[in-house]
Amino acid sequence: MRSLTIEHEHCYRTRLEDFAASDSLLTNHYHSPMKAVRYDRFEGPLLLVDVPDPTPTPDGVVVKVRASGLCRSDWHGWKGHDADVRVPHVPGHEFAGTVVATGNAVRKWKQGDRITLPFSMGCGTCERCRAGDEQICDRYYQPGFTGWGSFAEYVALPYADVNLVRLPDAMTFTTAALLGCRFATAYRAVVGQGRTRPGEWVAVHGCGGVGLSATMIARALDARVIAIDITAEKLELANVCGAEVVIDAREVTDVTSAIREVTGGGAHVSIDALGSPATCRNSVLSLRKRGRHIQVGLLLGRESDPPVPMSQVIARELEIRGTHGLQAREYVGMLHLITNGRLHPEKLLGKTITLAQVGAELAAMDAFQSVGVTIAVLE
Ligand SMILES: [Zn+2]
Ligand SMILES: [Zn+2]
Repeated sequence: MRSLTIEHEHCYRTRLEDFAASDSLLTNHYHSPMKAVRYDRFEGPLLLVDVPDPTPTPDGVVVKVRASGLCRSDWHGWKGHDADVRVPHVPGHEFAGTVVATGNAVRKWKQGDRITLPFSMGCGTCERCRAGDEQICDRYYQPGFTGWGSFAEYVALPYADVNLVRLPDAMTFTTAALLGCRFATAYRAVVGQGRTRPGEWVAVHGCGGVGLSATMIARALDARVIAIDITAEKLELANVCGAEVVIDAREVTDVTSAIREVTGGGAHVSIDALGSPATCRNSVLSLRKRGRHIQVGLLLGRESDPPVPMSQVIARELEIRGTHGLQAREYVGMLHLITNGRLHPEKLLGKTITLAQVGAELAAMDAFQSVGVTIAVLE
């Protein structure tokens, strides 16, 4: 496969057309204008509109989007809850696709490569990135937040050599889109930050996309999972994903005592996968001594600074850790667990929709209604 190097934006179109004419792979790709789901004001209409094709930065690529997941973070962005988002805006950050154009400084990628990427992309040069922590880069780029995202036919991405992840041949674009951001974040919570070992108890508070992902990942590591939620349907899914014990928080007088009883003294690792003052507190209090609490669920607005039972953190020598994303290099271990059949992210798929249906679906994402992840599949 030849690579397509773009040296000057002004000659971009001409060169692309030349290239398209000479390669059937591109004949139906990359036309102008493209379709994208855009909003021009917060909480305003989410419309499928024509916008100009993106062009790659020197260190970036343009990707033809093939599958893009809907996430509550997109909904929060549309509501105006995310300070990174500027209108007009195109949301979408959980996606996979094919590289169709590369900037002239890109070395590792070429047209035709099948890729996905972390939702928080590192610059590769700041202090954090040099330490290997691209997920908390000081100059992060988040498609769908700091820039236009993937509810579009094409998306431009900077920092390509640092962040793109090659898809295994056998992995579909839809499965790859299911990995970000919930699955990848859950993987870092369980594996990186939680340091979960075989045989340990992992308590998962909240069985939405992140919680179910964490359940599945912990099970794949031969840990024992206890899942907590207030919805019977989600607890059933937690069972399917490998939870050994499920607790309906409405049916017990004290969630943390119930967890300590089942686990013989408390969980080794406990994950707040929902993000609320109550689940955060329950997660910390459900740990055994020297247990690890991992905060994954976002706490927003008035709930962003909840009380934490710090006396117990001291007395029981607990660890409190956050998790923000997953570096591209850490995808290797996760993809390996999927390709060898230990992990099945496809179990998280709720339904597939078209790009034209994204706006209505996103606007309706205002409660904990959806079970499973909705993926927009593009031609
Ligand atoms: Zn950086
Ligand atoms: Zn997301």
